[in-house]
Amino acid sequence: MPPAATDRSYGELVAIRPPRRGLPKPARPALRDLPREELGRFMAEHLPGPAFRTTQIFEWLHRHRVPDFDAMTNIGRADRVRLHEHASLPALTVDAVQRSRDGTRKLRLLTPDGHAIESVLIPNDGRGLTQCVSSMVGCSLTCRFCATATLGFERNLATWEIVDQVYRAQDFLASEAAEQGARYVARITNLVFMGMGEPLHNYGQVKRALSILTDERGAAIAGRRITVSTSGLVPAIERFGREGLGREVGLAISLNASTDEVRDRVMPINTRWNIAALLQAVRGMPTPKRRRVTFEYVLLAEVNDEPADARRLGRLLRDVCGGGAGHLNVIPWNPHPGAPFRRPSEDRVRTFVQACRRAGLEVHVRTPRGDDIAAACGQLALEGSTPSAASATMEGP
Ligand code: SAH
Repeated sequence: MPPAATDRSYGELVAIRPPRRGLPKPARPALRDLPREELGRFMAEHLPGPAFRTTQIFEWLHRHRVPDFDAMTNIGRADRVRLHEHASLPALTVDAVQRSRDGTRKLRLLTPDGHAIESVLIPNDGRGLTQCVSSMVGCSLTCRFCATATLGFERNLATWEIVDQVYRAQDFLASEAAEQGARYVARITNLVFMGMGEPLHNYGQVKRALSILTDERGAAIAGRRITVSTSGLVPAIERFGREGLGREVGLAISLNASTDEVRDRVMPINTRWNIAALLQAVRGMPTPKRRRVTFEYVLLAEVNDEPADARRLGRLLRDVCGGGAGHLNVIPWNPHPGAPFRRPSEDRVRTFVQACRRAGLEVHVRTPRGDDIAAACGQLALEGSTPSAASATMEGP
């Protein structure tokens, strides 16, 4: 059963928490915060010159991932000095790496102000890797089954802190390949915003990070290979649709219940925007066919895993998908210490999935990856905040 409102580890029963602090404001702006257009404006102000120099610098920052301005070898010395004077190039540091038997790697990264965030690399079935990125330190939401929620909400991540998770992972993969004498470096082909935090509640930074990460002169990750996952912040979903982001990257909705009564309890955000309001917002998304919205469903034993839940989901999602098959990702809950839930047995998961299919849904079971490395969202960062609890399998970078 969901915890009682007095369960201290989950904080107060509120739908949305304010951050403990705002974004750090560096004395000189972090250059990796700027999408290419904004970098152009920065250059016009501080280093006026030909337009192609903006592209050169953007490539140094986001394709070559240079650690400092002096590594920009085709930029003249005087200009590099000006960059030092007017901008900064902070970076995250890889603080710990966990490797799972199934090939999943989990990185714990530290922000300059000493907060731990995490990012997970998951091998794809075919080629390459999917990276799961974080959008906040902690989370503004209070989902009862989620390890990150127990951390509280420290602050949003800056744009550069979102994109640097990808660059640190790329550098990590390069050094791993070099160590193993491999001829190829594994590529990050897909991104999911399913790490710590609610990406649509850090909308501005996430939007800029998407612009940078999809830029053909930078990491050039295709928009159709990126998914932003939300707990259901209705006004932000509407904005996402209105501003056209919905046509560029995919949207996933964490539904996690088939009735308001259960969703209110497991995801207090539902007391602000209930299932009907959420699905209405999804219906209004101008999503092209190939970009259809997916739904996620964390399966919690004896909370939301009855055949009756499957039948209700079938009705709810058929309606949203205009008669087409609703698409549901079923995720058996990843246990973490102290949480008052259980993962359903494999049998029970199978029965639930069959009932969903009978109800007309297209279902994928997201087999828990990296089970052996505390892969539940937020767990590694949680270990970071209590060093004595750090797992024995943890290594230095
Ligand atoms: N805040 C966003 C993104 C982060 S959570 C969102 O809610 O979608 C990413 C996904 O992980 C969500 O679908 C969430 O329901 C799921 N999740 C969180 N904790 C989990 C756990 N312990 N086990 C399995 N899935 C979990």
